[in-house]
Amino acid sequence: MTLPTLVTPTYQIKLPVSGIELGYRPFLVKEEKILMIASEAKDEQQILNALKTVIKNCIDVRLNLDDVPLVDVEYLFLQLRSKSVGETVELVKPFECSECGHKDNIKIKVDLSKVEVKQSDVETDIKLTDKVGIKMKYPTFSVSTVQGKDETERIFDILCKCVDSIYDENGVYAAKDYTTKELRDFLESLTQGQFQDLTEFFNSLPSLSHEVIIPCPKCGKEEKLILNNLYDFF
Ligand SMILES: [Zn+2]
Repeated sequence: MTLPTLVTPTYQIKLPVSGIELGYRPFLVKEEKILMIASEAKDEQQILNALKTVIKNCIDVRLNLDDVPLVDVEYLFLQLRSKSVGETVELVKPFECSECGHKDNIKIKVDLSKVEVKQSDVETDIKLTDKVGIKMKYPTFSVSTVQGKDETERIFDILCKCVDSIYDENGVYAAKDYTTKELRDFLESLTQGQFQDLTEFFNSLPSLSHEVIIPCPKCGKEEKLILNNLYDFF
């Protein structure tokens, strides 16, 4: 006789930035194993790959995660986790009191169902001259795979991945039709001021947002801790 099949519940979610709607089920033991192996390896790339595999297994649509805004993927993963291992997670965070100077690692409890995405009204159309401009797009999951080298190189690689198109009075040039080298050469031809406008874009992107108030265990002064990316929730 075959063993009985277990039915897992499914949930619906609308991703806050892209508006994509999909259904998902909680992680099962097999997916928790994938995550555990990755987190024990402490290798960022391996953790990202594990996240990708787990999300793909649990959602009911075919979705190229590399095309989805990173913040949506982060949000989706937290919701998945809350339905899988429980809505409340316990985190240990370094704490420093601004009043009495008390320093310690503090245990906090975070309700994952309360985590929101802070939307942004950042301008995606960046005018470089009166005729030429760049249309930017939000970083997708693929930016998290941009590897090391030095910081400047990384920033350039991330910038290239976030260019949607370049335009002038003759037309629109979709970034996907050009090589990274061609995009980089274009970005390197900007003036300091134009480049500054471009990097401004990254300072006001939508992000995860959750505020925790921690009272100092010594003097009671309440400090605010803001969790705003996926790693903050581990
Ligand atoms: Zn204190």
